[in-house]
Amino acid sequence: MSKIVKVETFPVSTPLKKPVIMPNTRITSIDSVVLKITCDDGSVGFSDSGDTSSWYRGELQESIIAMISNVIAPRILLGEDPRNIEKIVAKMDLLVRDNNQAKATVDFALHDLKGKLLGVPVYELLGGRTIEAARQGWVLSAGKPDDVAAEAKRAKDVGFALFKMKIGYGTIQDDIDMVHAVRETVGLDAYLTIDANGFWSYEKALHIIRKIDSAGLDLIEQPLAHWDIEGMARLRAAVKTPIYADESAQELYNLKEIIDRRAADGLFIKLQKAGGLVKAQRWLTMARLAGLPVHCGCMIGSGLEHSPAAHLWVANEWATQGLNESIGPLMIHGTMESKNIAAGTDIALNIPKFEGGLCYPNEGPGFGIELNEAFLLSHKTADRQGRQVSL
Ligand SMILES: [Mg+2]
Repeated sequence: MSKIVKVETFPVSTPLKKPVIMPNTRITSIDSVVLKITCDDGSVGFSDSGDTSSWYRGELQESIIAMISNVIAPRILLGEDPRNIEKIVAKMDLLVRDNNQAKATVDFALHDLKGKLLGVPVYELLGGRTIEAARQGWVLSAGKPDDVAAEAKRAKDVGFALFKMKIGYGTIQDDIDMVHAVRETVGLDAYLTIDANGFWSYEKALHIIRKIDSAGLDLIEQPLAHWDIEGMARLRAAVKTPIYADESAQELYNLKEIIDRRAADGLFIKLQKAGGLVKAQRWLTMARLAGLPVHCGCMIGSGLEHSPAAHLWVANEWATQGLNESIGPLMIHGTMESKNIAAGTDIALNIPKFEGGLCYPNEGPGFGIELNEAFLLSHKTADRQGRQVSL
């Protein structure tokens, strides 16, 4: 048996080539936490939390580092066999309320470690491969209608299957004009969605959605605040465009309420929101039982952050039926294919391959990722400290 003897966290800041704009938010750099879990036999598993934000997850670099170093490592991880992931996840849920991004970061590093101990890629631990590569959509930062439409055209030419718009660049009318301009550019057959990230009121959502219903959007993601399940159900009954839940759909009890109240036509999953790979598989099973389609994403994150998602999205049969916009590394590096990313500029030395709108998980044990140790040092977040906890 292996035994966990050391847990290390590193605060890392990765600048974005191009800012990502959302309501009240302009992201220029990704503050994330890289986690290393080391065993007594010298084996190491690692993970990256990806973007942290007060409004999406309510977790920050410091809170993730503190939760892992002060609670999860000393009370759960140290001395434990890292292969007992289900047991560790259950204990994390018992001893730590919420904090799913911190829990997911731990769950990811354990899967990497277990894959390395058993000599298999993580997708083999998750049921094996159902498809070779996950088809991706392109996320369009909010902007002037013509600019957003031009970017959608470039993404379509590369091979992306879905175009997801973000709101909040200018006025409400700008958002409405953007939807129509992008639809005109990508054509009626393209899969087109918009994500309001919970920033509309019921009244505003009704006003806007009625004006964009004619653009034939395939779905609207999280029009209302995460807590307003009743409002989502009312809205869904009042408009034509399907309504999907992202921020509302975190824990399984959230999914149950959404299902019971018929508050969404489908769901959106990110592993950091669901709390890791173990909890995400339960989440996907619940969605499947309810017949709710699932779209899959990742945080804006490095090649390491994206890897757990890259492995699960090719392994989980329900996840592979929906579309995907797990393109965090491409958003960081401002490109639509991984071949254009300069060597050594990411937390991962070998970013999973993105090509022609498809993403392939890395082969090799665990996530198949090599950590860029030099990058962790050169991009350490200013004025913030990592922690090390050991037996
Ligand atoms: Mg969303």
